[in-house]
Amino acid sequence: MSDPLLSIEGLHTAYGPIEVLHGVDLVVNEGEIVSLVGVNGVGKTTLMRCISGVQPVKSGAIRFRGEDLTRRPDHARASLGITHSPEGRQIFGDLSVAENLRLGGYHRSDDLGADMEEVFGLFPILRDKADLDAGGLSGGQQQMLAIGRAIMGRPKLMLLDEPSMGLAPVLVDQVLAVVKSLRDRGVTLLMVEQNAYAALSIADRGYVMEQGEITLSGKAADLIADPRIREAYLGA
Ligand code: ATP
Repeated sequence: MSDPLLSIEGLHTAYGPIEVLHGVDLVVNEGEIVSLVGVNGVGKTTLMRCISGVQPVKSGAIRFRGEDLTRRPDHARASLGITHSPEGRQIFGDLSVAENLRLGGYHRSDDLGADMEEVFGLFPILRDKADLDAGGLSGGQQQMLAIGRAIMGRPKLMLLDEPSMGLAPVLVDQVLAVVKSLRDRGVTLLMVEQNAYAALSIADRGYVMEQGEITLSGKAADLIADPRIREAYLGA
């Protein structure tokens, strides 16, 4: 059998003396949407930061197609096709919407026009505002721009951090529909969400994190039906 796209084994990391991930194991296979759910502060974002390379790892392995990334710098991971979004959104407010999108494809030498059209097709509001400063967008529009910019990088693995954060319910549905359509186009996604139901409802598999450890994992449909999950995360 071929290697999983992403495989994390026994991952430990710390902020100064305080360890926040205590031996995390997680696998993402090519073509999957995997959701990582858990309440505030359990270490979900820290795990994403370890994968994208901005947070150093204390011990354990992060393998991408079997190759250990743990000692590779973050830009090397980006060139392998790993993008991390929205990462606190981090859009460039004094550049236009279109310029922000082009920056997402900065490492590509081919024509970006077709992908830009694709992003505008997914988020028509970005086309309407293409020439305006990104800083003037609403929070939800900035979220869409951050996802659009990640799409422009033609990622193999997209790390999506709280894509529904701060969005009105109608926009949550729109963003989740985009996430599903990305999978249909061959992007593999690892998504972190506090909105457990939304995250699991579009995922193939899921992991539950508590206090820096994975405590449950399985098919997303099984997790949604699990009474422990329903009680703790789905408000049942
Ligand atoms: P949230 O949904 O709030 O982002 P999370 O599950 O993603 O929560 P993390 O942000 O990964 O959790 O935080 C895990 C723990 O590490 C928390 O106790 C947090 O306070 C701590 N932490 C996060 N970032 C730092 C940092 N830069 N320095 C020190 N401690 C940090």
